Amino acid sequence: MKQARFRATAQPAPASPPSPFVADLLAAFGDAAVLWRPERLRSYEYDGSIDVGHPEAVLLLGSGGDVPTAFRIAARHGRPVVPRGSGTGLSGGAIPVRGGLALTFSRLRRVIDIDPQNLRAVVEPGVVNLDVTRAVASHGLYFAPDPSSQAACSIGGNVAENAGGAHCLAYGVTTNHVTGLECVLADGTTLETGTLCGPNRGPDVPGYDLTGAIVGSEGTFAAVTGVALRLMPVAEAVRTILASFATVDDASRATSGIVAAGIIPAALEMMDALTITALARAGHRGLPPDAAAVLLVELEGLREGVEEQIPHVEGILLESGATEIRTARNGQERDQLWKARKGALGALGQIKPNYYLQDGVIPRTRLLEVLREVAVVSERYGLPIANVFHAGDGNLHPCIIFDGRVPGEVEKVVRAGADILRKCVEVGGTLSGEHGVGLEKQPYLPWVMSDADMSAQLGLKRAFDPDGRLNPGKIFPESRVPRPVAA
Ligand SMILES: Cc1cc2nc3c(=O)[nH]c(=O)nc-3n(C[C@H](O)[C@H](O)[C@H](O)COP(=O)(O)OP(=O)(O)OC[C@H]3O[C@@H](n4cnc5c(N)ncnc54)[C@H](O)[C@@H]3O)c2cc1C
Repeated sequence: MKQARFRATAQPAPASPPSPFVADLLAAFGDAAVLWRPERLRSYEYDGSIDVGHPEAVLLLGSGGDVPTAFRIAARHGRPVVPRGSGTGLSGGAIPVRGGLALTFSRLRRVIDIDPQNLRAVVEPGVVNLDVTRAVASHGLYFAPDPSSQAACSIGGNVAENAGGAHCLAYGVTTNHVTGLECVLADGTTLETGTLCGPNRGPDVPGYDLTGAIVGSEGTFAAVTGVALRLMPVAEAVRTILASFATVDDASRATSGIVAAGIIPAALEMMDALTITALARAGHRGLPPDAAAVLLVELEGLREGVEEQIPHVEGILLESGATEIRTARNGQERDQLWKARKGALGALGQIKPNYYLQDGVIPRTRLLEVLREVAVVSERYGLPIANVFHAGDGNLHPCIIFDGRVPGEVEKVVRAGADILRKCVEVGGTLSGEHGVGLEKQPYLPWVMSDADMSAQLGLKRAFDPDGRLNPGKIFPESRVPRPVAA
């Protein structure tokens, strides 16, 4: 499904001949690695959000070793640098809102080291998430964070956004699965944080947790050039249950009931009727067409433990009003269910051409109330909103579906999104569970952060990037962040 591009910044006049900045990049990296003609820049103006920005040039990195040179050239010309992975981000993080250089990691796709004994792998940042699991599967291992975009998004992008996924309920998000990083700071210095690689490296290092600070920093602290990942052994037994409900309220009650019973499934996902309809139209089979909502509950662990939990979970589902419960009988049926869940956003294109996805987080106990409010917002603006989300985490993804060609529609969509996020914050939640603040939620940051909170965070930003060169215009309201100047 293609996203609409609406909130464009002014497009700069095409540079011809190349500007002195571009000329220096061409001299350092050659024609094949530097894109600068307007028609070649198009694909780098967008990500999965509704915004657009125009880079002056794109550098297709050939190795992490290119990054310090690129940073120095950018600094000399006073240009900002925006790291970019696969461009699937949903908060505008990779959009070059202030022009400058888009630093693209997609060619850095090597799995450098697999250390099955220590459950570690070291990869380049452009490696696609799912390719990590493919690379280590023969050792009976996998990489747990599994964004629904995992067939496309990069590990560098996952690190920058602290990405989550369906199976993060039990195992935690990206930060819990990264043990070390190789990074380049804005001044060109390369540093290693945490435990990067090597079988004889200990599990931790003394000093501040710089790995923890960089994970989730949305490309504003450093460019990540290497990532050490924690791997997990594939569970002995996995059971996937699909439960149908006649109301979203019942499905919400079941979600709270399961967690309140002290059961933490590997995944606990909800899809509503609109999503189910879209999936059916997109050709996905196996979801109950009349359900108002379904829950996908995955239990995994030791065989005996899983078998013991199943009747318990089924009991809670039935007590909460489940109208049908099915358990996948084999790997193929399980894969089919996950294919539907992971293809849900794309399928929404069957309803309307564009979507605007929210990423609010709420206390699980307020699920029912907030989903009701989402329905009210949908009515208020006359916009369909599909709910497909990580219910167990309280990480909502109300997806506002619209047609960007209709005049005034985008403004309505943005207002509807803000109303939903406002409700999430009011009930004690927050603005982002896994997609980052980026550009899109930046105006709402003061809802969840005091001036003192922001000042402390910006102090950290200055320590990493004193001149504000890295991914400017993201996370914090414009007025709070310095503009880069020529070195
Ligand atoms: C259909 C769909 C489903 C999705 N499902 C999920 C989901 O379940 N869970 C989830 O968490 N997200 C999800 N996402 C959002 C997105 O896929 C993630 O945020 C992902 O981590 C972005 O990775 P990317 O490689 O596309 O990064 P990009 O979009 O290219 O960049 C994202 C951010 O990372 C920074 N960055 C990228 N590479 C580097 C690097 N090497 N060094 C420093 N900074 C870097 C960029 O500057 C930017 O700020 C989904 C997106 C889509 C389109």
